[in-house]
Amino acid sequence: MVVTRFAPSPTGYLHIGGLRTALFSYLWAKKNGGEFVLRIEDTDKARNSQEATDAILKAFEWLGLDHDGEITYQSQRDEIYAKYIKQLLDEGKAYKCYMSKEELTELRETQMANKERTKYNGKYRDFDGTPPEGVEPVIRIKAPLTGEILVKDGVKGNVSFQAQDILDDFVIARADGAPTYNFVVAIDDHLMGITEVIRGDDHLSNTPKQIVVYEALGFDVPAFNHVPMIHNSEGKKLSKRDGATDVMAYKEMGYTPQALLNFLVRLGWSHGDQEIFSMQEMIELFDPKDINKSASIYNTEKLDWLNAHYIKNTSNTELAQLLTEYDLVLTSHDKKEILLDAVKERAKTLKDMAELAKEMLTTPTSYDEKAVKKAFKDDSIAIINAFGAKVSASKELHLPSDYHHLMESVVKEMEIGFGKIGQPLRIALLGKMSGPGLDVVMAVIGRDETMLRIANAIT
Ligand code: GLU
Repeated sequence: MVVTRFAPSPTGYLHIGGLRTALFSYLWAKKNGGEFVLRIEDTDKARNSQEATDAILKAFEWLGLDHDGEITYQSQRDEIYAKYIKQLLDEGKAYKCYMSKEELTELRETQMANKERTKYNGKYRDFDGTPPEGVEPVIRIKAPLTGEILVKDGVKGNVSFQAQDILDDFVIARADGAPTYNFVVAIDDHLMGITEVIRGDDHLSNTPKQIVVYEALGFDVPAFNHVPMIHNSEGKKLSKRDGATDVMAYKEMGYTPQALLNFLVRLGWSHGDQEIFSMQEMIELFDPKDINKSASIYNTEKLDWLNAHYIKNTSNTELAQLLTEYDLVLTSHDKKEILLDAVKERAKTLKDMAELAKEMLTTPTSYDEKAVKKAFKDDSIAIINAFGAKVSASKELHLPSDYHHLMESVVKEMEIGFGKIGQPLRIALLGKMSGPGLDVVMAVIGRDETMLRIANAIT
């Protein structure tokens, strides 16, 4: 069975780059009828927090990406890691290193002065003397110091590392017993039954160390897929300066989960020239072998375009539900269909939609002065008054077309152009020149509110 995982370090919020690899992992597990599991890498007590973990889980919930089984928290697994440290010590595959901080610094400085790579010199690798007093030892693993470490990567192909260039006997447990990052990742991936690791290629340099751990413990090495980073339009790694990197900020901005997931799946993966993918299609079509070998470029216009597409294709019932998150409650509004049809054509985001709708539903308390000057001519008051009288005389006004006919009859009777009524009436109804069609606005707000707004504007 294919088992993939997402293993965030909870230091703040869920980053969209992280979400993208999580999505890839999720899709690949689902495509293979496998499992997608979650591991919280919360061993750094100074930088990790429960709030950050909760924020990550909340983002997953919003997106509807369900993980399988229980969540694994690294902070709760000290005993497990200790057991493997002991095993490696007992088997002579790891050893205690008593090198003091000062000695280590000196070694490093000498190596730097000689323009050598800084690495541990193996002083305690085969030590059988009496350990120096007063130094709490760290535990180092006996890494292969020559030869090749081969990472068989589904995206990058075979990546070969020369042990002498990148490895030393790295620390697997600190002096206080705390196990180190690459050590616990390898153990957890094994114990969680992970068959395929899909993660950012910023982790590629960790992989040889993790392979050393797998091999020392006799574990099978999983398949790796290292995904190139997301870049901004200048070809640099995406950062906060390029826009939001926090997944939940996309919710606040009014993006739908489908649009964001569709946007992310296309960042670094493609299937022909198809742009729109339902979740079902993503699951059917995703394959890590189609992940691009080069970095992908983040492009907000594409996200806006996808979001507008999903908004247009979401049912009004569902939209009304989604919009409650943006302070727009339409549940009992009898014209919500007309309202939503009008605003969804004009909005890129749910937030835009809610704002447009609120503008329509709120009686204006002020009028855009410039627009008033432009729209109100000598005869404007008389014209909208005449229209108001017609509204008042018509009991059955429901649809936009009902209001349209009334406007037409004023235009005909007064022998004026449509603009003569349209412009001042727009100011009266909305307080400004922009917005949806007036017939739609009036059908949505209804007959009484239409009369009220006209009366307010005239006085
Ligand atoms: N915790 C790591 C991170 O948040 C991911 C580790 C991994 O995927 O192996 O970048």
